[in-house]
Amino acid sequence: MSYQILTPQTLPEYLLSIPAIRDFFGDDAIEAEEIGDGNLNYVFVVRSAEHPQKSLIVKQAVPYLRCAGEGYALSRERMTFEIRALQGYTCHAPKVYHADEAMSLVAMEHLKDHAILRKGLMEGVRYPLFADQIGDFLAETLFKTSSLYLPSDEKRRLIDRFNANTELCRLTEDFVFTFPYMENETNQIEPQCRAEAEALFKDVEFKRKILGLKYLFMNRTDALLHGDLHTGSIMVNEHETFVIDPEFAFVGPFGFDIGALFANLGSAYISHFYRSGDEAYRAWLLETIRQVWERFEAKFLELWRQTPSSALLTPGYLDAEALEPFRRDFMVEILRQSAGFAGCKMARRVFGIAGVEEIRGLEDPAERKEAMMRALATGRALVMAHDSIDSIDRIVEIVEKA
Ligand code: ADP
Ligand code: MG
Repeated sequence: MSYQILTPQTLPEYLLSIPAIRDFFGDDAIEAEEIGDGNLNYVFVVRSAEHPQKSLIVKQAVPYLRCAGEGYALSRERMTFEIRALQGYTCHAPKVYHADEAMSLVAMEHLKDHAILRKGLMEGVRYPLFADQIGDFLAETLFKTSSLYLPSDEKRRLIDRFNANTELCRLTEDFVFTFPYMENETNQIEPQCRAEAEALFKDVEFKRKILGLKYLFMNRTDALLHGDLHTGSIMVNEHETFVIDPEFAFVGPFGFDIGALFANLGSAYISHFYRSGDEAYRAWLLETIRQVWERFEAKFLELWRQTPSSALLTPGYLDAEALEPFRRDFMVEILRQSAGFAGCKMARRVFGIAGVEEIRGLEDPAERKEAMMRALATGRALVMAHDSIDSIDRIVEIVEKA
């Protein structure tokens, strides 16, 4: 079928023409309802009329930025990369039932009993398994799409499959690494923060460090990234963790997704000075940052030690013992990248286009300003220190000092 934008009226007929979807629903009639709170795409719940608990999520990209309207073109091919990433994930992602790159559409498992992590964290909910599960997700996806696991030809083919996600990579280059640190019409600077914004725009030492990180983002092809792994792209409950919405997927530096996660946990931490004042919850958030890293590192090394041959390593080249110092240095390098990207991701949310709800949504202007300045100071400190950081403790300490 050639591309057309589907609606709750036209979606059922399209879906029932697909065998995998008919298998899922049996002979039931189905109904679609649009639920998207998303900024970019249309998201529908599709339910069996007879058995409403039987449902799927269908997501379709349109050739413009949904929140900005049809005047803001953004090619719908972003869905191609979301589909490829979802299909490539081996754990902690919704099952894909049907994908149609030509229609820029995917039908996936409906996560009915899960909340968006950002919302849960704003409400002060603890997710006891989250840190380990997301640590596993990061280790699995980053390790198994890297040259530490894949043979050389497969790794290059992987890069090819994601190389054309140019528009969304460009959005990150602009909105994470550039505009939030200079005068730009897309910034959202409250009048009460004007002086602080102008000081940031003149902070040449900070801006030079950001350039280094932007260069890394643009030129490293370590592993397949989610590309936008903030707490709004994760769905959780007490037992399970799922990663959704990988439309920014591309092959980039190891530390980028880890950094995004640290930054969002850091923003949640800062917001709880005001939202709840709950010190124990803030401590849990800090502990979560530490636990994500520790689990990721342990799992990544475990996978690596089980992999005798890869694009990087030819059997017989170095024995296992001689490799260990290389592995240790390698993990420190990932940690440093993660700290640097976490810093960018925190700082960019302060004056840039898309703030985080937990901070921008604080109603009291004085509190909001204080929270923003804490986020900026933390982001800046991470960026400035990132290339000399050598333990997760140091990152936690910087966030705690906020
Ligand atoms: P966008 O790319 O437009 O931001 P998302 O993929 O983030 O779209 O989806 C928007 C919202 O739809 C999510 O915040 C979530 O509430 C809901 N959603 C998306 N995928 C699922 C899913 N598999 N199960 C349940 N809800 C989902
Ligand atoms: Mg999205």
